[in-house]
Amino acid sequence: MKPTHIEHIGIAVKNLEESISFYENVLGLKCYAIEEVKDQKVKTAFFMVGQTKIELLESTDPEGPIGKFTEKKGEGLHHIAFAMDNVEEALKDAESKDVRLIDKIPRKGAEGLSIGFLHPKATKGVLMEFCGKK
Ligand code: ZN
Repeated sequence: MKPTHIEHIGIAVKNLEESISFYENVLGLKCYAIEEVKDQKVKTAFFMVGQTKIELLESTDPEGPIGKFTEKKGEGLHHIAFAMDNVEEALKDAESKDVRLIDKIPRKGAEGLSIGFLHPKATKGVLMEFCGKK
């Protein structure tokens, strides 16, 4: 297993519209997609920075993962996603090294990509996502 690059950085926000406006007007980036991911109870907005994306996440449900996160910690950096050629194999590989996983098998994330999360307790406090076409 070896990530090819940082696929995206996930940032939890309370108001997607206001946050998009910051990224567009202050950083000069262009939001190229807004997508609701029902499974994760979020609305996402994407920006491209080189080959890495910024994924803004606004909760659609206070009981969802991002709703709970912003309630506890406020807005801010939520997760880092590593691009993997094969997410399923990368998750299996991590598990074989006794890394605690949130997802043992990949599920569908935004942009139709396969995603899987490692547990932040097993990754030095950083929520890590593997992300790829398969
Ligand atoms: Zn993500």
